[in-house]
Amino acid sequence: MLKFAYEMKKDLTISAARRGLAAGEFSSFELTEYYLDRIERNSDLNAFVTIDREKSLFSARKADEKIAGGINMPLLGIPIAVKDLFCTNGMRTTACSRILSDFVPGYESTVTQNLLDDGAVFLGKTNMDEFAMGSANVTSYFGHCFLPFRKKSNPSVKLVPGGSSGGSASAVSSDLCVAATGSDTGGSIRQPASFAGLVGIKPTYGLCSRWGMIAFASSLDQAGPITKTVEDAAIMLKSMAGYDPKDSTSENIDIPDYQKVIGQSIKGLRIGLVSEFMSGLSQENLALIEKTCSWLKDSGCELVDLSLKTVPYSLPAYYIIAPAEASSNLARYDGVRYGYRAEGCRTMEELFVRSRSEGFGEEVKRRILAGTYVLSAGYYDAYYSKALKIRKMISNDFRDNAFSRVDAILSMTTPTPAFSVEESDKMTPVEMYLNDVFTVTANIAGLPGISIPAGLSGDGLPMGVQLIGDKFQEEILLRIAHVLEKCANFGELKKAVLMEDMG
Ligand code: GLN
Repeated sequence: MLKFAYEMKKDLTISAARRGLAAGEFSSFELTEYYLDRIERNSDLNAFVTIDREKSLFSARKADEKIAGGINMPLLGIPIAVKDLFCTNGMRTTACSRILSDFVPGYESTVTQNLLDDGAVFLGKTNMDEFAMGSANVTSYFGHCFLPFRKKSNPSVKLVPGGSSGGSASAVSSDLCVAATGSDTGGSIRQPASFAGLVGIKPTYGLCSRWGMIAFASSLDQAGPITKTVEDAAIMLKSMAGYDPKDSTSENIDIPDYQKVIGQSIKGLRIGLVSEFMSGLSQENLALIEKTCSWLKDSGCELVDLSLKTVPYSLPAYYIIAPAEASSNLARYDGVRYGYRAEGCRTMEELFVRSRSEGFGEEVKRRILAGTYVLSAGYYDAYYSKALKIRKMISNDFRDNAFSRVDAILSMTTPTPAFSVEESDKMTPVEMYLNDVFTVTANIAGLPGISIPAGLSGDGLPMGVQLIGDKFQEEILLRIAHVLEKCANFGELKKAVLMEDMG
């Protein structure tokens, strides 16, 4: 009987959890307890940095009361994990930085408030790269975080979950929660989702409010879901999105019922293959793209070859614009108003210098220095202004040469599958930045992008493909993604990669 109850809760999607809760197969309290126990037993994955058992169980009880009272809400009673970049009222929010390691916000971010308003139960805050700067979750003040699976060729080595939303990806793929929030400035939802065999969507810039999200690069930051299935991504995105007057870049549009498109035919859609995304792909990546193309063709799509000459400039432009904005956003951490303060300083200058030097990690300092440099009087025109012009050209290129001809673009999400900590230690900063070569373009152009698990590498690791759409065309992306998910039958493939039940 116990075994049966356990099996019923295993690997639940949002839609299955909804059904189980409605049918009384389990309560939100039981479900929440199940995940809290799993989080504890799998603490070596280091997916969570803060949990509050009492608080989670209390909100689960409240959800159960609502369910018993016949109240219907899209996420009622569903246990979700929150990236530690979203301010949560009364719960520590650190961006995994020492400088915010004891920061407890007195307010709730709009995105997490939207999820709470739809009935979600929060399990805790997930690990991430410090201030969301990274692609491997190796810059967190709280230590590395890991995936629940290993390379076939070297099973003794632990793998990173990608970054920066590594904790969320690790938590969802290890079944420590039903789904999780992420944020994506240059790929931080899609890249970890791809490494972890999950679905991750970075919405159009302006779809989800940035209010209460710890800022990295404000013109690029977007919140989005990391989920087990495309349908779950649709459900969660609907809850997270929406106009917010507190964010001046929030778009006032009606949020569609994304779940409605799940299962709709994609016949007649035109999918672009951009030669700049295709050049230099590994054999394995090429084979996966070819397989994906054949699924698309079999589903009635037309494939269109495109060239977008500005695409190769996305990564260089990103690594000027993002650090520039970060250097400005992170200026507020001065040891005076909140956050870490160095002890025993005798002058104001010493207080600023030591609090920042001791409070920020190496990668964050590197970005602040690079950002300050590209914004400085002598270099502003040569770097920052130029990057902004390139950014405009990239947006125009997509508008004029892609979305006038196709409904979506297909590419790989990442150049390689997940790697180990040892491999990441050997990478230079620029080699690490190259992990985002396929993802940053969507951020630079403000376009929506989704990563869907499409296959396994020779080494038995998940590989994701990316679809990029025109602004506010999330429905088209979800429609196509759902078809690809079915063709790839990733649910079955995943069984082969997951380590024996971790308990
Ligand atoms: N890896 C990229 C960076 O380090 C993207 C991070 C993100 O999307 N937050 O900037």
